[in-house]
Amino acid sequence: MGELVVLRIGHRPGRDDRMTTHVGLTARALGADRFVLASNDGRPLTTIDDVTERFGGPFTTDLVENAGAFLNEWAGMIVHLTMYGLPIQDQLPRLRERCPPGCDLAIVVGAEKVPFSVYELADWNLAVTNQPHSEVASLAIMLDRYSDGTALDEDFIDATHRVVPQAAGKRVERTQE
Ligand code: SAM
Repeated sequence: MGELVVLRIGHRPGRDDRMTTHVGLTARALGADRFVLASNDGRPLTTIDDVTERFGGPFTTDLVENAGAFLNEWAGMIVHLTMYGLPIQDQLPRLRERCPPGCDLAIVVGAEKVPFSVYELADWNLAVTNQPHSEVASLAIMLDRYSDGTALDEDFIDATHRVVPQAAGKRVERTQE
């Protein structure tokens, strides 16, 4: 079984903390195996690891200094999500053919301006519409489409807490001490 990794680049400590945390949480919730943050500031990873501790995994996080070095060493496919790319809905059949779910895939999302080298290193530069919006929105749609919707049924193991779905109200139960 391959690995589905989300790589967050361009993180600006302080300014992007919340958005980076949300990228990591979205990756975890929607079926990625690992979140890699290219930065010298690993604070957003603490919140993500805490959520995994409580609500289950498997899901891991890593801090790397250099996104380019990570991508150069990555042996699998690379998708870069960008408003300048080709429409995801047109490219997905070919992506799923060359890299079916379960193959090694790194999905790259940016923050500020993304270096051109990332566009060149990517096997696919994919757009979730050619309108500017958010890394969280584009990642969520990418993971949902790539999994053909099954990401919504993801199972989590070794959780200490579980949300019990309610028509109204909130219920969280402990699954273990
Ligand atoms: N103008 C920036 C650039 O040069 O890439 C985009 C910044 S945007 C706030 C942050 C990230 O959100 C992008 O790097 C990209 O990963 C993602 N993003 C925003 N709009 C997108 C779209 N329409 N399709 C795919 N990804 C998008």
